[in-house]
Amino acid sequence: MATLSADYYDGKRARPHSVRLSLSPAGDALAVEGEGVDRIEPLARVWVSEPMGDAPRLVKFSDGAHCEVRDHAALAVLLEAGGHRDSWVVRLQSRWGWALAAAVIAVAAVASGYRWGLPAVSEWIAFKLPDKALAQMGESTLAFLDDRMLSPSTLPEARQQSLRDAFDGLDVPNGLGADHQIVFRNSRAIGANAFALPDGTIIVTDQMVSLAGHDEEIVAVLAHELGHLGRRHSLRMLIQGSIVGFVAAWYLGDVSNVVAGLPALLLQARYSRDHEREADEYAAALLKANGISPSRLADMLEKMEQSHAAEKSGKEGGASDPFGGYLDSHPATRERIQALEED
Ligand SMILES: [Zn+2]
Repeated sequence: MATLSADYYDGKRARPHSVRLSLSPAGDALAVEGEGVDRIEPLARVWVSEPMGDAPRLVKFSDGAHCEVRDHAALAVLLEAGGHRDSWVVRLQSRWGWALAAAVIAVAAVASGYRWGLPAVSEWIAFKLPDKALAQMGESTLAFLDDRMLSPSTLPEARQQSLRDAFDGLDVPNGLGADHQIVFRNSRAIGANAFALPDGTIIVTDQMVSLAGHDEEIVAVLAHELGHLGRRHSLRMLIQGSIVGFVAAWYLGDVSNVVAGLPALLLQARYSRDHEREADEYAAALLKANGISPSRLADMLEKMEQSHAAEKSGKEGGASDPFGGYLDSHPATRERIQALEED
């Protein structure tokens, strides 16, 4: 039976006792024998400190006594033979990455445990993200859309510019500003619509421009989109929808898959009723400040709803629309139209 030497302190006096440590014949207890010491302690009740460089490892007993062991290798062999295992916390902490991952997951779990927690955390993150990150998200989403469902606008450049000028010429009351750039695209697949990307890009379809009976209706829709941008609604949806994926991916050490999936995720997301109401209220305030009636937005919502309903009824079953959610995110509910008309 292997033994090793150690210094034993009885917990009462500072004097060390020279002792030998060995496993009990049954292998489940530590035997301590030496000058004036003879004790057998079950391994389950012995606590062994983590190895720290060349410093002696401590073997502590429940009565306050302890041994100092300098022969790390021999102690490791003895502990191994006795089936001693470090506690799981000690093993986790010995790898800081795991400890950090555990902390992040704990925070995310607590946050999502509260219905309000995740939206609040997402909002907080949305306003902390650097512009560079927003620009990357916006560019990759626009590229994704251009690849799959958008084609270049057929509107003359002069017409595009006059619409931009009409919107950018609005007087923006304090606190209602938000960075943006308006781009035009043709898309039969999406139909009459406008939507804002996290970086401030507002995409307007040619179909929406044709559907409008007055430029103020287009300006009203742009005002609504600016409302979403100012409150970072799309970004918040994106963060909320991907936070679990991000934590998991980061834990596995590769976030590139999640980043690549963001555009698709955004297209599946859906604004909440509260987000729509906030954007409508924002638009109404901006329009009124410029002498434009908020009913322009109501009129446009009505037309968009009719146009989308007509498109859907023309398709098989009407349920296979792949552009639900974000791209179909302006359900012109009676409630919203009425609120705008009363405004
Ligand atoms: Zn909206």
